[in-house]
Amino acid sequence: MKLRTSLFSSLLFCSALLASLFPAAAHAQAYVGRPKLIVLVVIDQFRGDYLNRDRAEFKGRGFRLFMDQGAWFTDCYYDYANTKTAPGHATIGTGAYSDGHGIESNEFWDASRSWEKKVTAVEDERYQLVDLPPTSIPSNQPGAPPTALNYVIGSSPRNLRATTFGDELRLATQGRSRVYGVSLKDRAAILPAGQSANGAFWVDNVSGHFTTSTYYMEHLPEWARAFNASDRPAQAERESMVEGTTQFFDLVGRMPAANSYELDFAKALIDGEKLGQSGVTDLVVVSLSANDIQGHQFGPDSDSEEKMILSLDRDLDSFNSWLDKTVGLDNVWLALTADHGIPPIPADAARLGIHAATLDMDVLYQKLNADLNTRYSKDKKGKPIQFLLPGPDLPYIILDRRAFEKVHIDEKAAEDAVAELLPAAIAAQTPKIDEQIPAQHRLPPSPQFAGAYTRLELAHGQLPTSELGRVLAHSYADHGNWYVFLALGAYQMEDFHGSIGTTHFSPWSYDRHVPLAFHGAPFLAGEYHSRVAPVDLAATLASLAGVNQPSAAVGRVLTEAIKPIKQPNAQ
Ligand SMILES: [Zn+2]
Repeated sequence: MKLRTSLFSSLLFCSALLASLFPAAAHAQAYVGRPKLIVLVVIDQFRGDYLNRDRAEFKGRGFRLFMDQGAWFTDCYYDYANTKTAPGHATIGTGAYSDGHGIESNEFWDASRSWEKKVTAVEDERYQLVDLPPTSIPSNQPGAPPTALNYVIGSSPRNLRATTFGDELRLATQGRSRVYGVSLKDRAAILPAGQSANGAFWVDNVSGHFTTSTYYMEHLPEWARAFNASDRPAQAERESMVEGTTQFFDLVGRMPAANSYELDFAKALIDGEKLGQSGVTDLVVVSLSANDIQGHQFGPDSDSEEKMILSLDRDLDSFNSWLDKTVGLDNVWLALTADHGIPPIPADAARLGIHAATLDMDVLYQKLNADLNTRYSKDKKGKPIQFLLPGPDLPYIILDRRAFEKVHIDEKAAEDAVAELLPAAIAAQTPKIDEQIPAQHRLPPSPQFAGAYTRLELAHGQLPTSELGRVLAHSYADHGNWYVFLALGAYQMEDFHGSIGTTHFSPWSYDRHVPLAFHGAPFLAGEYHSRVAPVDLAATLASLAGVNQPSAAVGRVLTEAIKPIKQPNAQ
């Protein structure tokens, strides 16, 4: 008995000691909140050379804060080949590529969800958009059929298979860290923030009002409703000279005014949610869409691109100065990057003698389909079978599995056939005679086939043992359809017949080159020319914040840009 009492009292003593050492909710409180706030700025379509090109023009604490006082990496390249917006944003958040995070394009055919239409990387019919203005709800439109939806389909990170840096902050703090994403585009607000984000906000294309999805909340917070109800959306329209427009995304979205509009919403978010004040690290990701919307139209070398960049420099100067006044830059880490680069408009590159050419995808699809019918269709007089799914969107050519299965062709044979037919189908296209070629005696450049890789080859790593093979392996994701990945020659792309000027999608350096820069207490200021990758961003932030790497992260911690940790003097 005595023994038991003494054991009991020692246990009591031990637990009292433990309690004094580790008070209740010890896990959540043990996290040392540093810094108060991390702001990650992503510029949609911003090639890595832009900062150097316009360096002399920058003023104040916009880009110069990163370039002069921060750690600026001049040679940051995505190590994958599907350089599109949704995978880029997912990569920035997760520190992984498509083979890790599961997002390979902005939209895809998902055999488990629909054979009628492609789905976007984030659309999710199980949720609805929140607090749209009545005029933006389809069933309210004049002449809408009675069947018109009385809501608009929502979005979520349902396809994101890896956690983000923000998710790991939330896990480490048992939800006390708060994480938000802001953009004009849903995919760019949702994917870099992660699965557990407290909110992601993007604009209603018609009105420009910020909205979100019921995945996050039933209604917008009061501060967001106040922002929408203020003069701010109308001010952005006035600044873009399109007052009263019903095409806010297209017409305001491509103007410099859209960047300050988004940054003002980010300020309202930081204020409204009191971010950076809770003793743990909060995270805001702002993806600025305007440069992409205008860049596709006018290309990287236009006057409007120059204006956009210099205007963004001023907007970032004022945003960073505001952060300094409110949270204090000593308490904030800033990071800057982009989701992909861009090539010049093909005619502009061809004028300099580059082998830039365009490929007519409609003609290519007709030729491929005719060749496949010759090979596989038994009924030569009947209606041709459609072996390819519509919506050509390079680098992917999507096969209609059902059509091949009907003629008893399996995936390997079908994908191998398309890959085999592609070189001749591309060579069959006559080059567009273009007055842009540099000399009368020189022949116009033709579209060039650079490689075709089947889904099965990507899935099983049956790829060339080269740099290109490694980059292709990172591009693999699967949504239940058969496909072939097509690489064209550098500076070549689909012919958009004048609807847009240029686009990004390729494994070539101009699509993969983006800026990477940090500013804040732990970073060693300098201009770094070592080759790094956007996956290193999440890896570096996770390491410095002292949390786990995101679940599929492959990035390197950029130790060369981290200040040496001061050890207490050894006795
Ligand atoms: Zn983009």
